[in-house]
Amino acid sequence: MSMPRIAVIGAGIAGLHAATTLQGRGFDVTVLEKARQPGGRITTISLGGVPIDVGAEYVTNAHTHTTTALRRLGLEHQLRPVPLDIALYDHSTPQRVPLPAWFAGRHLGLPAKLGLARAYLTVLRHRRDLSFADMHRAHHLDTATVAEMFPNWAADTVEHLLHPMMRTFLFSSPHHTSRATMLCYLKLLLGLRSVRVLTGGLQQLPQRLAEQLPVRLGHEVREVTENEDGTYRLHVAHAQGRYELAADAVLCATTASTAARILTPLDATTRGFLATVPYASAAVLNCALDRTINSPARWVMNTSPADPDLAIMRIIPGTPEHAGDILTLWSPGGRAGSELCDLDDEQAFQRLAAQARQAGPAFDLRQAMRSRHVHRWPEALPQFPVGHLRRVHAMTRTLTGRLALAGDYLAGQNVEAAITSSIRAANQLTRTLRPRGNPA
Ligand SMILES: Cc1cc2nc3c(=O)[nH]c(=O)nc-3n(C[C@H](O)[C@H](O)[C@H](O)COP(=O)(O)OP(=O)(O)OC[C@H]3O[C@@H](n4cnc5c(N)ncnc54)[C@H](O)[C@@H]3O)c2cc1C
Repeated sequence: MSMPRIAVIGAGIAGLHAATTLQGRGFDVTVLEKARQPGGRITTISLGGVPIDVGAEYVTNAHTHTTTALRRLGLEHQLRPVPLDIALYDHSTPQRVPLPAWFAGRHLGLPAKLGLARAYLTVLRHRRDLSFADMHRAHHLDTATVAEMFPNWAADTVEHLLHPMMRTFLFSSPHHTSRATMLCYLKLLLGLRSVRVLTGGLQQLPQRLAEQLPVRLGHEVREVTENEDGTYRLHVAHAQGRYELAADAVLCATTASTAARILTPLDATTRGFLATVPYASAAVLNCALDRTINSPARWVMNTSPADPDLAIMRIIPGTPEHAGDILTLWSPGGRAGSELCDLDDEQAFQRLAAQARQAGPAFDLRQAMRSRHVHRWPEALPQFPVGHLRRVHAMTRTLTGRLALAGDYLAGQNVEAAITSSIRAANQLTRTLRPRGNPA
């Protein structure tokens, strides 16, 4: 008896992890990926011979599924810790303040510290429902923004702590993000013991997964239609032309906007929701320099509203093989991120480099630059405004059958959440296609 055919759309980490799980359960899986390489938002480039992650990079101790996947692929030993070495730059008082001094010093006054302590009490109260990798479990807390969580007397917590952190790490703002999301990340911070990167770049993870799967690179799914017998037809375009692929089930692991566009069998409510999931855009500039930068910390977070295009800069120290530092500049999301994504490389470089000059290197970047790379992410991270997690929660309870969804927009803006969503989607299809089987 032939096994049911499952088409997986998207070879990002969610699609590849789901495909690996389903293939391991004996299904006949085909992965279709529109790009020429697997990985999606896990992308490693080479700059002057040094591998640099321009998308996801950091793996914490709470990335448990991610670490398991790396271990199974023999990559875990390449994880190496990065010191949490962050300083803050405040344009109005031009000085770099190391993070511990910032917490202790005048930048964060007593009311702000009390506000933060109050938020942590909320985390402790709801800790069982808070997971940075499965956020819709906190749907009942999805009733106010992060900013609304704090009373006026603690407004400094929002402006001087949460705002710079959220624009840096989530490309978002406390005024547009659900407090449920922030509480999940605060719990992550409470239990944070290690932050690691993969030597050689995190894209080795999707690359290795893809090597063990039938992945068709450069094949874009334009539309999915349903046949009368409940099976599906995928309309695929690639460099040599178009074709149709028949499948008994479909797992769509693209961003929400693409899922809304191509999945015609979905009901109008679900498609309408997917079409409105907001994404932040962001740009990342990497410069290989011929010299080292004198900085109090490896990361310098910009807390100054006067420099709206720069969220954080990071220095990768040179090595004996590659003398000179590599400087990475990340934009925030919002208007600055969108504008930078629309600029050409030179314009984006000029805007980011001008603001980095205030916060970082005391020399002209252009003169010290051996090479550079600008990466644009038009859909960098899904944003979770108030109501998003409640809608995801309602949707995941109604999503059954042969059409499954996976992706970070369903669980949290990170690799671990993308994998969590993929496990749920793979289990849904396993239950449907093997009604009496055990999905585990
Ligand atoms: C700058 C940046 C830094 C980040 N840093 C971290 C970090 O340090 N740690 C962390 O955990 N997370 C981080 N993230 C988040 C993480 O990258 C994402 O949450 C995760 O990779 C999302 O995976 P995904 O599979 O859901 O989506 P994606 O990676 O977007 O995969 C979707 C795939 O579908 C493909 N596709 C789209 N449309 C079609 C179509 N019609 N047909 C076929 N294929 C299609 C796309 O090409 C893509 O490959 C970061 C993200 C960014 C942008």
